[in-house]
Amino acid sequence: MLKATEIGDVTEIKMGRSLDGVSVLYWVAAYLIGGILIDTGCDYSKKELGDFLKDKQISVIVNTHYHEDHVGGNTLLVKRFRLGALAHVDTVRLMDRTYELYPFEQEIWGYPDSSTATPIGAVVKDGTVSLRVIETPGHCKGHISLFEEERGILFSGDIWVGERPKTARAEEDVHELISDLRRFEELRPKIMFASLGKVVLEPQQVIRKTREYLEATRDKIRDLHAEGKSTEQILETLFGRESVLASVTQYQLSTKIFIESFLRDV
Ligand SMILES: [Zn+2]
Repeated sequence: MLKATEIGDVTEIKMGRSLDGVSVLYWVAAYLIGGILIDTGCDYSKKELGDFLKDKQISVIVNTHYHEDHVGGNTLLVKRFRLGALAHVDTVRLMDRTYELYPFEQEIWGYPDSSTATPIGAVVKDGTVSLRVIETPGHCKGHISLFEEERGILFSGDIWVGERPKTARAEEDVHELISDLRRFEELRPKIMFASLGKVVLEPQQVIRKTREYLEATRDKIRDLHAEGKSTEQILETLFGRESVLASVTQYQLSTKIFIESFLRDV
């Protein structure tokens, strides 16, 4: 399923797999600004995305990172519209391969075709649109965000997913995530487009609150750890119980991993 909405100069393209034609398992968004397409959704929605873009002027694809819900339409769009794709050099290496997906990933997003991209520079331009590339590796290696300076438009990829995250994946680095959010605060964005299809107006306060929440959580976890508490005891004290997402994702996304990430360098 695909739903497009014009928000100022940006087209939000929300996509996701639908089993019943009514509801969607999990939304993910691509964004179009000028002729720059940021991310391409998952494998299940690639044909709909290709059809939606057929009368649009796209000059280039930029991928925020290599995950299967962000590169799924690349191969089809590159072929159909003779486009190039740009990504961080670490993402380029990770995209050009076939890798194992967990059952929940196969079910929700499907296998992306192996695709290629060219390492991105410091800025991406199309006509009057100029996007600054911000390295934000907190979500995964090679993750980038994009910032349009004049209008204060931030495309934050998977860095900001909500005000009080309680789960993480093993490849996430919460310390980097805190730095990434700090970098966002310094940009003073006027609008933030997150890749889960969340659009936040005047997001400075939300970003600051998220960063402060993560810092406070880090301090509490470290204090409990210093008192000799185990990960399980810390989980129970601070969060009550493991997130329901843990069993759904075969424990690839969990509160336990979130806590361990804070303790990685202790
Ligand atoms: Zn991701």
